[in-house]
Amino acid sequence: MRQKIVAGNWKMNKTLEEANILASEIMGMVADEVKGDVKVVFCTPFPYLLPIKNMLGNNPRISVGAQNCSEHESGAYTGEVSAAMIKSINVPYVILGHSERRQYFGEDGKLLAKKIDVSLKHGLTPIFCCGEPLEVRERNEHESLVKQQVEESLFHLDAASLQKIVIAYEPVWAIGTGKTATAQQAQEMHGVIRKHIAGKYGQQVADSISILYGGSVNAGNARELFACPDVDGGLVGGASLKSREFTDIIKSA
Ligand code: 13P
Repeated sequence: MRQKIVAGNWKMNKTLEEANILASEIMGMVADEVKGDVKVVFCTPFPYLLPIKNMLGNNPRISVGAQNCSEHESGAYTGEVSAAMIKSINVPYVILGHSERRQYFGEDGKLLAKKIDVSLKHGLTPIFCCGEPLEVRERNEHESLVKQQVEESLFHLDAASLQKIVIAYEPVWAIGTGKTATAQQAQEMHGVIRKHIAGKYGQQVADSISILYGGSVNAGNARELFACPDVDGGLVGGASLKSREFTDIIKSA
């Protein structure tokens, strides 16, 4: 059985006070309403990781994640945050390769391979994002691009390391647009990713990896998306900033 995960990517939103309110509201609702086998992750801005983590205590169902880390180990890289630093405050997850990082900060597959390596070295679980822009889908090249993204950044790993990764398929045209992939489009691409992994690492390894869908997930579409056989939960942006809606999404997993 693969781990079901619903992760909220808060991006660059909220003050600390607002973040505390959001997390505590969701924590209360999850304790009361949500079945135990879904893992919930709050991917917060760096300054909130520790306070939110402390607020959650030893909650086995909810944990926190960073949204990025440096490819470097340590040193003179002003403004950067290392994987070792994230690990040192016992934060288990880190999002890597989000399309906003690829698009606005020029992150490419090679750089992301380095970030994956340094994260794994320090015992973090990367949530590795892949997904195609609209024009690539319109050219019908989405499958080959996403396979290439996965290959470039993950296929240098041995099987044991690969199994520590969570993958998130996030079509760029669905992010923040209100335009969700249909359940069929999501399932097709998740199936392609899993098959591609199986081709290199074998079916057993491929079957063990959680693949999340991201892109305009909301309380109205989550159930259908999460019901797809190869969709193991979601990476949620805008709707993760609303406690009631995010809890409803978690309940759909
Ligand atoms: P939205 O849910 O706001 O479309 O964002 C998705 C996303 O980028 C999650 O990482």
